[in-house]
Amino acid sequence: MFNVEKIRQDFPILQRQVNGKPLVYLDNAATSQTPQQVIDVIVDYYSNYNANIHRGVHSLSQEATDKYEAGRHTIQKHFNAKHAHEIIMTAGTTQGINLVANGFSSLLTKDDEIIVSALEHHSNIVPWQMLCEKTGATLKVIPMNMAGELIMDDYGTLLSKNTKLVFVNHISNALGTINPIEEIIRKAHQVGAAVLVDGAQACPHIKADMQALDIDFYVASAHKMCGPTGVGFLYGKEDWLNKLPPYQGGGEMIAEVTFEKTTYADLPHKFEAGTPNICGGIAFGAAIDYMNNIGFNAIARYEHELLEYATTELLKIEGLKIYGTAKNKTSVISFNLEGIHPYDIGTLLDKMGIAVRTGHHCAQPIMNFYKIPGTVRASFAFYNTKAEVDALITGVIKAQMMLS
Ligand code: PMP
Repeated sequence: MFNVEKIRQDFPILQRQVNGKPLVYLDNAATSQTPQQVIDVIVDYYSNYNANIHRGVHSLSQEATDKYEAGRHTIQKHFNAKHAHEIIMTAGTTQGINLVANGFSSLLTKDDEIIVSALEHHSNIVPWQMLCEKTGATLKVIPMNMAGELIMDDYGTLLSKNTKLVFVNHISNALGTINPIEEIIRKAHQVGAAVLVDGAQACPHIKADMQALDIDFYVASAHKMCGPTGVGFLYGKEDWLNKLPPYQGGGEMIAEVTFEKTTYADLPHKFEAGTPNICGGIAFGAAIDYMNNIGFNAIARYEHELLEYATTELLKIEGLKIYGTAKNKTSVISFNLEGIHPYDIGTLLDKMGIAVRTGHHCAQPIMNFYKIPGTVRASFAFYNTKAEVDALITGVIKAQMMLS
């Protein structure tokens, strides 16, 4: 039995008031909240063993190194990577994508092609455009339909022997669509292309198996799955990571430095220049443990119930339109009310203590596709309740009355 009231007690922030009203936090796709179990790990680190890692012989440094590396192993196990050194610790999804894009700049020529999807976040578009500018390679886009699903027949025709890299998010942050990454990967591999999957939105909902999916690169951020901001990981198959040049130069990533020539450290350190977010990496491991204790199947079932309930209730509101009606989607609802700007709805909801995101959600091409300036986005996590969905519905109806 999924005991949401018990789970909510783990999250101190959910007890607070905003604008004199109990907080209803429905902006989980932007960032998730942090349970006490993870906050305790952060406090423990700074209270008891704050030290730089991989360099000191002293005990604190060794303790911090062991716990940081344990965090890496937790990520490896959770995402079923073959080796721990295939997990590169990053500052988050964006940095992981840029690391790969930077690496490919020495592997691509002007005849090569990169495919992205129409459903991407800006962080999954801009680095590839920059890569194309540098190398002369061409960027192609898998189109989407009105339901917010990728048109897979068109993907098939875009692929060719010139395709070197396919880039797609696992789940769209703007619409919640779950993309058919298995098929995308299988077809890309048939023409010899590598696939990078952006798991920023998927990581709190789906336990992605790197080996079963035969993924080449996968990126995600801790803050989307109950961990802190400023830390994430890049998974890369060992062969690919060995082929890519380092991203940044500095301490920690070298084997030997002379003014004539520097040799690089082995994986994963080759890509980890400088002092990392040590506390963040340790807390990331704790966040994964926390979510696994609840269980990803239970989370998915519960969130699906919330999604169905919220969708049915929202659609009862006259003039309300939901964007993104894919059959396969997670608990994100992007909507607009006829004749009302999304920003105005978001502002009024905030006055009622309800946090939603408004705007283009860093996915302007999707908004352009629907010919809208943006949407109101309510995104649910496993600690949200039906009562909070009801608060959203009441809030939207009130806002509609005030604004029409
Ligand atoms: N991709 C997607 C699909 C996202 O939702 C986000 C965060 N909104 C990012 C990439 C970027 O993640 P971060 O800001 O943590 O680097």
